Amino acid sequence: MNNYIPKDSKFDPDIDGHFGKFGGRFVPETLMPILLELEQQYKKYRFDKKFWSEVNDLLKNYVGRPTALYEAKNISEQIGAKIYLKREDLNHTGAHKVNNVIAQGLLAKKLGKTKVIAETGAGQHGVATATIASLLGLQCTIFMGAKDVKRQELNLFRMKLLGATVVSVESGSQTLKDAMNDAIRFWVTNATDTFYIIGTVAGPHPYPMMVRDFQAIIGWETRQQILEKENSLPDIVIACIGGGSNAIGIFSHFLEDKDVKCIGIEAGGLGIDTDKHGCSLEKGSPGVLHGQLSYILQDEDGQISEAHSISAGLDYPGIGPEHSFHKDNGTIDYDNITDDEAIDAFVWLSQQEGIIPAFETAHAIAYLKKAKDSLKGKTVVVNLSGRGDKDMIQAKEILEDIII
Ligand SMILES: *Cc1c(COP(=O)(O)O)cnc(C)c1O
Repeated sequence: MNNYIPKDSKFDPDIDGHFGKFGGRFVPETLMPILLELEQQYKKYRFDKKFWSEVNDLLKNYVGRPTALYEAKNISEQIGAKIYLKREDLNHTGAHKVNNVIAQGLLAKKLGKTKVIAETGAGQHGVATATIASLLGLQCTIFMGAKDVKRQELNLFRMKLLGATVVSVESGSQTLKDAMNDAIRFWVTNATDTFYIIGTVAGPHPYPMMVRDFQAIIGWETRQQILEKENSLPDIVIACIGGGSNAIGIFSHFLEDKDVKCIGIEAGGLGIDTDKHGCSLEKGSPGVLHGQLSYILQDEDGQISEAHSISAGLDYPGIGPEHSFHKDNGTIDYDNITDDEAIDAFVWLSQQEGIIPAFETAHAIAYLKKAKDSLKGKTVVVNLSGRGDKDMIQAKEILEDIII
């Protein structure tokens, strides 16, 4: 494959980072010059061949790209559709997150920064950032909610093993949204030598656009691979959604094709009629979180509600602003999958194809069963965003009495 390089898109945000009415830059005044400088610099590197040849070199030789597009014959037969899996689980560190982190890490070096910071919930983005910081010789600090520090002992250890410092965030609900608030706060006073690596297509402009560009390699490869195998585009592309980066990454190369339907799957948690789910689009309303206007889960007073999902990577109470735009615009369809349906699909894919998916990814897989009747005879691509190794302890607890 040639070197990947982003493309101009009809869905690029306007000059202030708006996707329709969403996105933008809702930040304290002190952060504005920092964001404007980043935007300026990113403009310079966005289509720069030399920068992208460095990114591509690491993606190929360090991460193992391109990832396979695998025809999953066993589940295809059961669903009555032709199902392909885009194997982001085969990436170094086990998920799509590394695509974005490598590009942001190299950008940090271009800008002369010696330190990087990142927020993390379950620890996956923290681990990816610590990995790349160690590779590129950058000093790394990860902000993690105190509750998550306790819940995610293994990833905490991984980050430390990779040489990162982990700051336990004691404020608010002591989870991801508080970790991100503290990371932003720290950045304001340390931006001279520090680059903030955001883990998904959220945050103030230019992050949603930049992270999309960095994840769009997934869709760029998939498009070439499916054309080679099928000689036509897929009917449907499916991906799970936390902040929305793996989804927009694969969708972005199909959004301008009227005959391809893109479907994003949110975390239905215990059910969308309970208050324990992560469906920002389905059950949220427009509001400001982490410097952007987007659909968020909030109460009548505008207090951010806590999201719930069995998969830590999907329990973000917001969503990237571009998804909010596509929901209102009708370019992308959205649906949701409950914890129970996800666990069922987690076992199903493991036993049918010998592929253990991440809990997050299991939501996208579960949609195949949920929507089986509408998929008959179609060609479907599912973005397999990550592998399930990180979920083994939790899976064992849940399935102990069932799998014996
Ligand atoms: C973090 C994560 C997600 C959710 O993040 P997005 O930005 O929505 O892609 C999904 N799958 C896996 C495996 C993850 O680690």
